Formats: sequence, structure tokens, C-alpha cells
Amino acid sequence: MSCQNRRVAFLTEMGLGPVWSQRGAAALLQPDDDPPVNHLAAIAVVAEPDIAEPNLSAWSHAESAKIAAPVPTLSKPATLVTDVMRMDWDQLKSAVSTCTLCDLCKSRTQTVFGAGYQKARWLFVGEGPGRNEDFQGEPFVGPAGKLLDNMFVAMGMKRGENTYIANVVKCRPTDANKRDRAPAAEEVNACMPYLERQIALINPTVIVALGKTAALSLLKLDPATPVSKLRGTVHRYAGLPLIVTYHPAYLLRSPAEKSKAWADLCLAMQTYAGSAVV
Ligand code: SF4
Repeated sequence: MSCQNRRVAFLTEMGLGPVWSQRGAAALLQPDDDPPVNHLAAIAVVAEPDIAEPNLSAWSHAESAKIAAPVPTLSKPATLVTDVMRMDWDQLKSAVSTCTLCDLCKSRTQTVFGAGYQKARWLFVGEGPGRNEDFQGEPFVGPAGKLLDNMFVAMGMKRGENTYIANVVKCRPTDANKRDRAPAAEEVNACMPYLERQIALINPTVIVALGKTAALSLLKLDPATPVSKLRGTVHRYAGLPLIVTYHPAYLLRSPAEKSKAWADLCLAMQTYAGSAVV
């Protein structure tokens, strides 16, 4: 399917297409976040960006360096990092399930390790578990998870089939009122070796960073860098192409940005097509 044809499918799956029914959209989108479907279709026509060819020459360290200052990192025991980087899947899952390296362990219901095909060609990385994920022990469940599933469908993929989903932190960050929050720098720093090992074990063809925390943590950029400055470029993580797009939860709050997310996924698919080893 061409990228243009996929665009129609994507907009439909994202609740922006002309064949999307009101009933289906209501099931997908959070009631307080999104305007009615007809309004979304109008937004899609206005907001849809041109889908640029991937800027392969801009692959990334040099590009990132233009906008980035190093993220301050906290020291971790070298033996811990070394141990994690030697773990197999079972050892890694076991280590995460009993981890107490940061204070997020105190309030979690359970860790959320990640899910999918362990040799997936596509890796999607989010921020951290929310309330639903903490309860179910699975990444990306609830409305944001449904939207991510629809993004997969529009790309011709399915959760768990050639895809793996992981988060930067494996335990739910909450504020003093028990509401979801972004993980703090020290929490990200404590948890990153687990994600780094997951990426090494999977060795995906393409990584898609969903949202600011995932993008900045993987690319080690200045925390003030907006996602909008990272979109449209093929970055590199440990030599692997990495595309930045918006987090599905943000897209639920900001439906006008869904067409931009489609442009990002087109770039990811074009990059995959150019990188996949047959
Ligand atoms: S968030 Fe990561 S580092 Fe912190 S306790 Fe959970 S698994 Fe350990």
C-alpha cells in the first residue's frame, strides 16, 4: 500500500477519516478531549502536512547536536549496568519485577516490563505506565493504547506481530494526588539500563519514540527540547534509525496533531523500507 493510501487508512483509524463512524470514534477517544468526528475531518484537511521524503543524509547525531545539550546523568554502579547488559530476557524480566532502584517501586502495583515479539523489527517506546498499565501490567492499555493499536492497523501491523512496545520507566510515576506524571530525571536514569538491554536484545530495524520523554531519554537531549524540533528527522540510537512522534495520550488531547503523527509514521515506514534486511 502506498503512503498516500495508507494515509487514508490512518486518518480513518485515527478518527479523522470520512468513513469513521461516530460510534467507533466515541469508543476510541476520550470524551473530554476530542471534538465530534465531522470537526476532526475538517481539522485533518486543514492541518495535514506534506509528507516529506526521509532525510537520510541527516541521520542524526549531527542533526541532534544542533539543538541539543547533554542531559545531566546521574552515576550508576558500573557493575549494575554491566550486569543488566549481560542479561537474557528471563533474567531481565526477573530483575525488573523486583527492582527497587528508584522510589517508583514504592507506589507501583506492579512493574510493566514491555510486550510484543522479542525479535520485532519495530520498537515503539513510550514514557511510562499510567494508571491502567499499572493495574494490568501491560504497556499502552486504555484509550491511548487503543489509539496506538489503530496506528498499527493503519501501518499494516498488529500489536505483538513484528512489534514490541516498551516504556522508559517500568513503574508508574504519580504525583502527590496519585495522578500520572512524567518520570523525573533520576527515575529515568535509574531505569534506562533495562530499556537499553531490551533494545539490544530486540535489535529492531526502526525505533519510534512516542513523546518527549522517550525521545529525549533515548537521544540524550536537553530536557527543554520540544518534540516539534525532533520530528521529521531520522535520528540514530546506537546506530539504529529512530523516529520521533507524539505520544498517543497527547494526540487524544490534541487531535489536530494526528495528521502530523501520520507524517511521522510515513517517515518511519520509508526508513524501514530502506533499512530492512530481507
Ligand atoms: S522505575 Fe525502573 S528503576 Fe525505578 S523501581 Fe521501577 S524498574 Fe526499578
